[in-house]
Amino acid sequence: MPYNYLHVVRDAWSAPQMRRVPAKLTVALCAVAIVALVAYREVKRTAEREVEYWDWLSMGTLAELQTRDHSIARAEAQIMKDAFSEVEEALSVFRDGSDLSRLVADGTITVSSTSHLARVLNFALKVAEGSGGAFDPTVAPLMEAWGFRGLKVSDPPSATSISNILANSVGWRRVEVADSGDGRTVIASGGTRLDLGGIAKGYAIDVAYERLRDFGGENFLINLGGNIRVSGTNGKGGGGWTVAMRNPLGATGNLQYLPRQLRSGEAVATSGSYERFIEINGKRYSHIIDPRTGMPVDNEQLASTTVIAPTAIESDAYSTTLFVLGEEEGRRFIDGKDGCQAFFIGKNAIGLDALRRVEALCALGQRNALTPGAHTAAKWIADELAAIGLEPEIDEFNDPAPDGSERVFRNVLATARGTCPGRVLLLSHYDTKSGISDDFTGANDGGSSTGLLLALAKHLAVCPAAPYVTFAFLDGEECVRSYGEHDGLHGSRHLAKRLRGEGAALDAVILLDMIGDRDLTLTLPRNGDAELKRRFLSAADQVGRRGAVRLLQYDMVDDHQPFIDAGYKAIDIIDFEYGSLPGLNDYWHTPADTPDKLSAESLQAVGDIVLHMIDGH
Ligand code: ADP
Ligand code: MG
Repeated sequence: MPYNYLHVVRDAWSAPQMRRVPAKLTVALCAVAIVALVAYREVKRTAEREVEYWDWLSMGTLAELQTRDHSIARAEAQIMKDAFSEVEEALSVFRDGSDLSRLVADGTITVSSTSHLARVLNFALKVAEGSGGAFDPTVAPLMEAWGFRGLKVSDPPSATSISNILANSVGWRRVEVADSGDGRTVIASGGTRLDLGGIAKGYAIDVAYERLRDFGGENFLINLGGNIRVSGTNGKGGGGWTVAMRNPLGATGNLQYLPRQLRSGEAVATSGSYERFIEINGKRYSHIIDPRTGMPVDNEQLASTTVIAPTAIESDAYSTTLFVLGEEEGRRFIDGKDGCQAFFIGKNAIGLDALRRVEALCALGQRNALTPGAHTAAKWIADELAAIGLEPEIDEFNDPAPDGSERVFRNVLATARGTCPGRVLLLSHYDTKSGISDDFTGANDGGSSTGLLLALAKHLAVCPAAPYVTFAFLDGEECVRSYGEHDGLHGSRHLAKRLRGEGAALDAVILLDMIGDRDLTLTLPRNGDAELKRRFLSAADQVGRRGAVRLLQYDMVDDHQPFIDAGYKAIDIIDFEYGSLPGLNDYWHTPADTPDKLSAESLQAVGDIVLHMIDGH
């Protein structure tokens, strides 16, 4: 989430007025409504007159109402805003008169058992106990020590100061909540300070939800800094609300759908380290702290956790909890919770998947064109595509081989039907160069792009907020003697001709070739569409890889050329500096082209760049 609510709550108080978002601001893009778990302005959505949008700032973050209850929309927005203000007034540590501030100042407070503080705290302590202290509302002193509460720190806190804090001022067991019997609750803070940032927004959403329902609201979605709860349906089929979240894997603006619609009454929240963190001495630290160690969660594998739950206080608290627990323990924690479902998003998920597939392809052996190895590889690719859920086509065609004889080549094709307009063609060749050595398997040359295309196919099958993407795995790219009419580029020449013949309209043809090198340099040959090159540069910039791009001053013979010749906009993304030292290309077409030269990070970066490029068609 962009902001932590307790952190910036004072600024929020002078927040701009609530406003209705005019319909013309909405962008016609995808076939179904998308609601990001992030600030909506960065989100593309349908121009859907049926849904009215309102947004404003509350509790230091963006609040949003989407409603189909047109006759009472304004009143709904006002009710929601008032609910958030009321919760903020009770739970803000920045407001002197708030219940929470008084508890901090006096060490004890007596409140109504139905007060916001009593309800939130009771639930927070329950989650703390159930999670073995992974979730803990007393993390405030740790948040301060790590510089998340205004005071910037120049060094991470020392091990001694962390253990002092843990020993003296953190621990949910110190907090005592007792019912006084007359409808009142006595809370004693036991020397700790509370931070309800991991749960308060979700609670506020529930308060607003109940009030909107009581008021007669039927079909609406409410969102507070990524904590979402829905009622009824968005009217686009399926009976609930389709919700997307930002894909945390690098690509900003690249949305990922929740794997299922939210049903009426359900809530969702996401926690992760990718948006809110602090930088100390150049190292990033997550704003979610493991209260058991006092350290910010530093999860090698996990980028974010998302929880769908029957209420927003649950989804908010549980998503934070799962991020601390990690996937394995997290699954055990969530399993017993009624109506809850968790999604764990791994770091470099596309890159790791791609690398695994490259290794599997290389393990099959050589894939020289016109050999049984190439046929085996084509079948393997088709099987992988089918397992992903796409319908693969093996396009067998005859083409003259260098010796003039007609021979059979095979392209493998499949299309992921995205929900956005447009059609993009992604290309890779899968054949290996012949005549290098018996064990040459082209891990980077032919392997890396094939692995990445499969991983992207898998990604888009789950997250279809993209145009139609046709994946084409081309045969016979490598020449035997030298490139010419009958030597090399067999698959691309055939496919370009075929698509032209079918009158296929393509917005972009993107060829990937040798893109897995650990030491990634992306060299763009001169022959390529200028607009696609610009789009590539901007995508590389967004992914933080602009520095690795070189625009070549010469043309390259590669599979994109037949598409250029056929009148399509095409680009070749290739790392033609694949070698033992920067600038060298001495691994190319040698037995040194093995999977250990590749990395998941590089594959992920190229995958992110491609996703950025096709986003926005
Ligand atoms: P966001 O505030 O971005 O919506 P979360 O709901 O995951 O994200 O909450 C993170 C916030 O929760 C932190 O900024 C902090 O206020 C608080 N917090 C951090 N670590 C913990 C923890 N282990 N248990 C409970 N709350 C925590
Ligand atoms: Mg939370």
